[in-house]
Amino acid sequence: MIRTTYAVIHLDAIAHNVAQVRLAAPKAKIMAVIKANAYGHGLQRVAHALEPFVEGFAVARVQEGVRLRKAGIKLRIVVLEGFTHIEELNDLCHYQLEASIHSAHQLTILNSQTAPELLTAWVKIDTGMNRLGFKPPEIPDVYEQLNHSAAVKKPINFMTHFANADDKNDPKTLEQISLFNDLTAEYSGEKSMANSAGILAWKAAQTDWVRAGIMLYGISPFAEISGIDLGLKPLMSLHSRLIAVRDVEAGETVGYNGSWRSSHATKIGVIAIGYGDGYPRYAKNGTPVLINGSLVPLVGRVSMDMITVDLGPYSSAQAGDSVTLWGEHLPIETIAQYADTIAYTLVCGVTPRVDILESS
Ligand SMILES: *Cc1c(COP(=O)(O)O)cnc(C)c1O
Repeated sequence: MIRTTYAVIHLDAIAHNVAQVRLAAPKAKIMAVIKANAYGHGLQRVAHALEPFVEGFAVARVQEGVRLRKAGIKLRIVVLEGFTHIEELNDLCHYQLEASIHSAHQLTILNSQTAPELLTAWVKIDTGMNRLGFKPPEIPDVYEQLNHSAAVKKPINFMTHFANADDKNDPKTLEQISLFNDLTAEYSGEKSMANSAGILAWKAAQTDWVRAGIMLYGISPFAEISGIDLGLKPLMSLHSRLIAVRDVEAGETVGYNGSWRSSHATKIGVIAIGYGDGYPRYAKNGTPVLINGSLVPLVGRVSMDMITVDLGPYSSAQAGDSVTLWGEHLPIETIAQYADTIAYTLVCGVTPRVDILESS
């Protein structure tokens, strides 16, 4: 069967990208972050491919952790958002999932736990992100409460999350690191700070565990450099086909709202991909698209099922030719820049209409 619009998940890139994490953080254990369907790459597929190479996993939600256990994943799994209800706490314990403890609400639920199975707890410290976590002055008391809770396994672990680690010139990350170190120095549990940007840019952030997300997928956490330039291999490539090649005269517009007008007689290629597949609606005129080894510019609005490109007047491209929207020879970070977004949203946004193929 001819596939029109599909993504390829290059599973061989996983071992390579994990090796890059090891190189950057040789002493740390790796917690592979596979929330949001493994950043759009497929939760189970990525978990099974990563399992031989990492020491643990992190997901955002309890359901994601339960799905991993049901898929037979045996490694430690940390649920970064923890729980809000006793039912979720019961699931965490039942499936041996570990929980971020970030709020007084969670402590209340833990204290009401009457028939305890032991929960592995990671106290989340808010060192400056101001999203989840206890404030620094609360830490000694939170620690005492958890340490005395019959429901919680000892010792208690700690984590924090960086707000600006992708900006190598922002001193905020060093402040977050030293605050975390000060607050946790006297406790014996495991500690975790670094996301991908922390792993690559902030040596001092490498404690017991690093939490590698985006770099495992071959994507850069930094705006100024691509994953490929960092020595990573893209895990996903996105492909489609030309479905028509049409002539336009100088002065004609192409697509909705006539947002692009041709200055010259040219051939327009129509490609079977649009925002209904997860190609970004806000990709600007000029966004590169790879056809038959050449980059051609997107022209006109991205529609639900199609985009249009300027093939140039002398192009020999034909209907049926295959097209790469992002991948090894066209960094996804470039597409993200043209769409005023970050590559994280592009991989997460590939829709179920797109067939996923695996290559290894
Ligand atoms: C998503 C997430 C990570 C991974 O971040 P990347 O930038 O993808 O490496 C790490 N820690 C927490 C708390 C997260 O939410």
